[in-house]
Amino acid sequence: MCGIVGYVGSRECTEVLLNSLSKLEYRGYDSAGIAVFENNVIKTQKSKGKIADLIAKMENEGRLEGHCGIGHTRWATHGEPSDINSHPHGNANVTIVHNGIIENYKKIKEFLERKGYVFESQTDTETAAKLLDYFYEGNPIAAIQRVLDEIEGSYALGIMFKDYPDRIYAVRKDSPLIVAVGDNESFIASDVPAVLQYTKKYYLLEQDEIAVLDKNGVEFYDDHGAPIKKELLTADFDMEAAEKGGFAHFMLKEIHEQPTAVRTTITPRISDGMPNLEECGMTYERLKNYNNIFVVACGTAMHAGLVGKYVIEKIARVPVTVDVASEFRYRDPILTDKDLVILVSQSGETADTLEALRLAKRNGADTLSIVNVKGSSIARDSDMVLYTHAGPEISVASTKAYMVQLSVFYLIAFSIAYAHGKISMEECKRLVAELQNVPNVIEEILKTPDSCQYVASQLVNSENLLYIGRGLDYALSMEGSLKLKEISYIHSESYAAGELKHGTISLVTNGMPVIAVATQRNLFDKTVSNVKEVKARGAYVILVTHKCKTVDSDAADCVISLPTIDDLLMPMTAVVPLQLIAYYTSVLRGNDVDKPRNLAKSVTVE
Ligand code: GLU
Repeated sequence: MCGIVGYVGSRECTEVLLNSLSKLEYRGYDSAGIAVFENNVIKTQKSKGKIADLIAKMENEGRLEGHCGIGHTRWATHGEPSDINSHPHGNANVTIVHNGIIENYKKIKEFLERKGYVFESQTDTETAAKLLDYFYEGNPIAAIQRVLDEIEGSYALGIMFKDYPDRIYAVRKDSPLIVAVGDNESFIASDVPAVLQYTKKYYLLEQDEIAVLDKNGVEFYDDHGAPIKKELLTADFDMEAAEKGGFAHFMLKEIHEQPTAVRTTITPRISDGMPNLEECGMTYERLKNYNNIFVVACGTAMHAGLVGKYVIEKIARVPVTVDVASEFRYRDPILTDKDLVILVSQSGETADTLEALRLAKRNGADTLSIVNVKGSSIARDSDMVLYTHAGPEISVASTKAYMVQLSVFYLIAFSIAYAHGKISMEECKRLVAELQNVPNVIEEILKTPDSCQYVASQLVNSENLLYIGRGLDYALSMEGSLKLKEISYIHSESYAAGELKHGTISLVTNGMPVIAVATQRNLFDKTVSNVKEVKARGAYVILVTHKCKTVDSDAADCVISLPTIDDLLMPMTAVVPLQLIAYYTSVLRGNDVDKPRNLAKSVTVE
């Protein structure tokens, strides 16, 4: 999980590498480094910390000058973040940057130590670099192939060989890498936004394909070393979309992009007022055949799945199980060819979700992925894919990706309910129309962020807080709680409101904030009773509910009232104040909102 870049052409290489790396810093940011051919010699500069720290170091030491090089921003898996563990790794003959984990690195390291190699860092990556050096006898592709035969795990590698000072080599397995081309220049990058300021033309590197880049273009080879032709793709978003566009942070910009993202995601999937998922092969006929649905995902995507479960079970009456991907893989799930496994991942590269997908396929289940990044591993490997059209999400804390994942779950739920005859065509059309109205309601909510700013000012000095809700509100409050934890670093838990008195209420002390979500009108009174229980014990209560509901003045200290829409769809609107509360609290605490500590955007390690 990191950012890899590479450049060969006539521009000043260091400049290009730093520009491109800065677009990838969301992928990992505990250290950064570059390697550049300077007068045919590989020179490296690296530093613990952010790219800004590397730039500061360069100001002291002087910038590397050349026209061919590779760069990396790291999210440490093996060895602490330090100068020495930063990438690139290697020696004067061969130098690499790596994203992923070499699982059998210990065995390789012992082997190489017996051959006389001395290791400087604690990284797994250095073993791959030295193994390349060991196998290299003048033919880079042959050496790379030998290494691929030996290493186990996941990798995207950018490689420079001393003997080829105007070339970059690249290969990947289970970690993303694209190869881009401009006029007399070529690039590698972990993700397209890294190169958008230079070119929109790129190739997707497939598993174990090798790319050889020079300024005249790129050549590709398969894992047997045979030359192959690949399709040149064009990025359908521009730099503007990958920049902050006037907002203080990417997170705030992305919260505001949610109405558009929902419209773009649902509009092509509605025909004559009915949901239509046939683009991916999901016909009503097919939907009728599933006995069970499993949703497998991590973090925020898993929370979207929880909302999906409540909605699908409520209106389609098909059992849905939601699993954290890393647990699903090892709990030996019971799957049959009558089951549908839905994998949800913004990046489409989440390592545990990818492995869960493979497990589901091995067990004969049908697989459907909900993914934001086109051509990503999960999208390519699943039987069916429904892309969310959120555009690039840069902020580590996900907002718009969650929102569009929800919108796809609603379309799936409506389709299954209709396919099973649980709702009439008329009811299905009514629900679809409600869903189409959601972006307008979100726009409305975004016009008045003041109550969320006020709540943030009340939370800013808290150390602990609780989120409570029932049913769909409980599923939603889990996401609210995670968002706050991720970026404000305030400890919070989400609890089923009715469960609180079975233990956790003992944590409630004078002044402790409790955010209660009560948007399900049939459960409103019950949730308000739970709110009064915590209020009686001194809690500072923030209640999120419908405008149409009257709240006793002694029930809550602060009420956030939302426009009334169908209860089923309320998670899509009620999440917005929860996102804003987390955002403003993080800003007030002076945190790095878009790059919270210890986290990275795309989790491509298990
Ligand atoms: N496993 C490597 C390391 O710890 C690469 C981590 C990454 O993907 O950033 O250095």
